[in-house]
Amino acid sequence: MHFNIVSNLGVTVKDSGFSIDELVVRMQELFNQKAFPELLCEILMMFDEMMKLLVMRKCPIPFSCGCGGESFVLDGTRARKIRTPIGTVDIPALMRVKCPYCGKTHVPLLEICGIEAYQTKTDGLEKLILEKCAQTSYRRVEKDVADSMCVRLDHSTFHRWMLRTDADDIRVPEDAIASIPGVEGPRPVQVFADGMKCKSVGDDGPKGHGHAVQGDIKVLLGIRESGTVFPIGTWAGHETWEEIGDELERRKVKFPEGSVLVCDGEPEISEQLARIVNGDHQRCQWHTARDLYYEMWLDGGNRDKCRPFQDRLKKIMAIELPKEDFEKVSDEDKKALSDKTDAAEKQMDGLIADVRKGGYEKAAGYLERAKSAIFAYVRRWLLLGIACPKASSFIERTMRELGRRIKKLAYNWKEAGLNKVSSILLKIFASNEEWEKYWRERMNLNQKVMLSFKLQKHLCR
Ligand SMILES: [Zn+2]
Repeated sequence: MHFNIVSNLGVTVKDSGFSIDELVVRMQELFNQKAFPELLCEILMMFDEMMKLLVMRKCPIPFSCGCGGESFVLDGTRARKIRTPIGTVDIPALMRVKCPYCGKTHVPLLEICGIEAYQTKTDGLEKLILEKCAQTSYRRVEKDVADSMCVRLDHSTFHRWMLRTDADDIRVPEDAIASIPGVEGPRPVQVFADGMKCKSVGDDGPKGHGHAVQGDIKVLLGIRESGTVFPIGTWAGHETWEEIGDELERRKVKFPEGSVLVCDGEPEISEQLARIVNGDHQRCQWHTARDLYYEMWLDGGNRDKCRPFQDRLKKIMAIELPKEDFEKVSDEDKKALSDKTDAAEKQMDGLIADVRKGGYEKAAGYLERAKSAIFAYVRRWLLLGIACPKASSFIERTMRELGRRIKKLAYNWKEAGLNKVSSILLKIFASNEEWEKYWRERMNLNQKVMLSFKLQKHLCR
């Protein structure tokens, strides 16, 4: 079906001139507040009008009743208001029809366009709001959205949308889950685990008015051999690692044999997640350096005194695995790598001794415990040829950024909301492509609409 809509844009400018910025601002206002919603409404009504003619002529319309009936009788009209990213469209009268076979009434346009019975917004608007809410406070979103899109909504509405969405649902991709034994299947992955504390809102008052409480967020993120990242989950309800392990087991998440868990020294994490990860535990080097500071601080150290030790530790840990396949690396090179690792372990002993000499007993003990796990990735590669690179800078950045944002957002949310927000953040961060794909499918963007635009000018003075 093709139709033209002719609209008239009246432009009045001062003969003496005007600023381009004002022109742009006025155009934005006009299109956001009037042109877009009205055009949208008009297009929907044109389609509705066409269907009405078909119904009146007893011709089929692209819609059938649940009972199988394909012809309908007119049954009045219905008004409908829907919020979209280009404004709120207020359709005064949509055709309502009745199925002569079962007596059920329908509003065909809504069903054809994929608008459900109680849906008040398009999926595109939901996507936009969720992305904004995951980035900034929802009070800020309220202002942003009103300014740029003329969807005037109370921030509590956004809050409600966030709590109701199912876009936060995280499914571990199948290619990362263990296959049947003996069958060539998914390759080992690395699983990164981290936990962080934040301030969130308690349950002791209406939303946003509870007292600040200590929030607790745990994050699991996976990375394939190819380097692509996938989300595994976030937990904001004070779940223990044991409960998280149980939940993943229930969800049948078990990673391929040879997978590696990368996390800080907290023994509970490696104990509880071993059954899921199905492989070794490796101490994350980034965590090790970060936690060294914490341990020294416990012993009375400060940032400046700690930095040289951290730098030394990082230098010792910096052993790169060869980029080539295991088979292609010569025995001499493997020997050299093994020697280098031995030397690094000796340097660790030296570092531990110096840390102890500086009076940081806790930190020294911490490094001693960490030592064997730190070089696990090299030993493992030398032994099995399975690469499990140490925490890549990408993961470091992702975890750090995720933590930073979650901490900033947590003030707005109680537990349930916090869990949703952090899951959405993790999804957007870990695999933006997957996030976009999810929405493309949900929004049904499948080349069924084409628009063109032509200008006609007429000068009147
Ligand atoms: Zn019917």
